[in-house]
Amino acid sequence: MRHKTGMENKPCRRCRGTLEARRVEHPYWNGATLVAVVHDVPSWVCRLCGYHYFEPAVETTLRYIVQDYIKMGTLFPIPNTPYRKMPN
Ligand SMILES: [Zn+2]
Repeated sequence: MRHKTGMENKPCRRCRGTLEARRVEHPYWNGATLVAVVHDVPSWVCRLCGYHYFEPAVETTLRYIVQDYIKMGTLFPIPNTPYRKMPN
């Protein structure tokens, strides 16, 4: 018997649909402020409703990527940045 540890076995929290791995563009909000749009973010997307989820490690990395934008406050135009690994 195989045991999977990722999110591929978990149904969508909203509609119980199946999740598939896909890279998405993610508008990152800090409270009511849109601080940056991060693209190529690895995520799990629901095949039925389109809602996307991130692994906890990806959420941590996203916070790291946008931390400078959060410090800068509201910017126009909204910065657009690629997803990248955190330096060790
Ligand atoms: Zn869904």
